[in-house]
Amino acid sequence: MTASTTAAFDQLKRAFPDKVVTPDAVSEYNTAVSCPWSQTCWTPAAGYVYLSNAQELAEALDIVKRVGSKFTIRTTGHNPNSGFSSADHTAIVLDIRQFQSKELSSDGVARVGSGNTWGEVYVWLEEKKLSAIGGRDQQVGLGGFLLGGGMGALPNLYGLGADGVKNFEILLADGRLVNANATENTDLYCALKGGGSNFGIVTRFDLETHPLIRVQYTINLYNPEDYVEIIKATIAVQEAMENDPKIGLFTNFNNGFVAVGLLYGDTPTEKPPVFEPFHRLESLMATALPSTDGTLLSLAQAMGHAQEPKKRAICSVTTKVSQSLYEEAYKSWNETCKRLPAGCVLHYTIQPMGKAGIKAGKDRGENIMGLEDVPQCWWVFTCEWPKDDSDDAVAQKAVDTMAKSVEHSAKEKGLWLSFQCMSFAGASQKVLGSYGADNVNRMQETAAKYDPEGVFQKLQYGGFLLRDNI
Ligand SMILES: Cc1cc2nc3c(=O)[nH]c(=O)nc-3n(C[C@H](O)[C@H](O)[C@H](O)COP(=O)(O)OP(=O)(O)OC[C@H]3O[C@@H](n4cnc5c(N)ncnc54)[C@H](O)[C@@H]3O)c2cc1C
Repeated sequence: MTASTTAAFDQLKRAFPDKVVTPDAVSEYNTAVSCPWSQTCWTPAAGYVYLSNAQELAEALDIVKRVGSKFTIRTTGHNPNSGFSSADHTAIVLDIRQFQSKELSSDGVARVGSGNTWGEVYVWLEEKKLSAIGGRDQQVGLGGFLLGGGMGALPNLYGLGADGVKNFEILLADGRLVNANATENTDLYCALKGGGSNFGIVTRFDLETHPLIRVQYTINLYNPEDYVEIIKATIAVQEAMENDPKIGLFTNFNNGFVAVGLLYGDTPTEKPPVFEPFHRLESLMATALPSTDGTLLSLAQAMGHAQEPKKRAICSVTTKVSQSLYEEAYKSWNETCKRLPAGCVLHYTIQPMGKAGIKAGKDRGENIMGLEDVPQCWWVFTCEWPKDDSDDAVAQKAVDTMAKSVEHSAKEKGLWLSFQCMSFAGASQKVLGSYGADNVNRMQETAAKYDPEGVFQKLQYGGFLLRDNI
């Protein structure tokens, strides 16, 4: 521990005797260290504080601020970038997973605590025959997902997760708990829709709800050798998406298979013809998930199975849609994989975003991400490897190489888009800068107005922060 974290824990232990975990409580401490999804984040922090509500959080933040200790916020620890919701011995993790409130307002807005996971919110909403736009995996938390934009299974239907937030309840650095919405603190409202943890700690998200969204979904596995045809089918679906916002898709090139999620925001009796190009492929190896009539919850449950602990690194790039670009990406991936040590798996996902999704965001009052009004692909490259430090640099290089290679090809073809999605970006990527100069200015002005002392810039341990991410 450092002098400031020691001073902070003296006070935190007095304020929250049952909620503080330091290294002397070996078992609880090890559980806290190994909570994150990626083992790259299993770094031992000075200690962990488990807070239950906004009042406790305000008290903890006040202590941390007064002693000048570094801190980080954690909900589920799903972000794989080390130091974002984890820390080393120089900082404290403020864990808000217990912010579990759920309340439906009379006008149908779901007021949900920021410690909930999407699985928990979907279960609660579906009991009421309602849906909200959230994650594709039940285990992911609301906090990082919504503050980073958040791409759901059907992004064209109602826009991104952040676009569906009608109000953020947020704890500011000076201890005030304020609302940010279309009529109150409107600058903060816009900045929070994609601007991350730069302005305060969100304690509650008030979400737009929709009558229960039914989803028909299938996950097929294809032989990667058929990549040209798989890409043609991917592009055909992306094109169709422009005329039917109910269409969703992901195409994941993986170790020995290509997993394709065919998603449709309705449950028609006949299979949606849009997916015919995939059904015609002769390279089908297996059906991982047969055609199911379900909901966002059942899809998130199917996709959100427990995963083996591994180290993970990610990197992202955004481009326009193009057969030749997608083929070049495949070839580059194939070559990069050959150079990886055994046990190190590199995979990537084509995540389509259509114009309807971008318009849905604008219609809901605009977000801060500066998305261009064109059909696009949000690529995410992921490397997974066993906990062996010797492979860390190689794995990180693999995802960086892929992102650079796709960016390079896209630039050459005039297909590159500057936007990087916070949900899928690596720590060294300039996500906030990718939103464009005007949006950076707006975020800087908002941070200066709501956090004039710069507490969230100076004391936050890591994250996509204005201090170094523009
Ligand atoms: C298995 C898996 C599936 C995923 N699926 C999707 C998907 O379908 N779509 C998508 O867009 N992304 C997806 N992601 C990415 C995910 O949205 C991001 O990793 C996100 O940052 C996780 O947020 P979290 O709150 O669960 O995690 P955490 O790691 O706890 O938090 C992430 C970051 O947000 C900050 N933060 C969290 N809560 C708050 C808060 N209340 N106030 C201020 N700052 C806060 C933290 O400090 C940290 O920097 C997935 C990730 C995984 C691992």
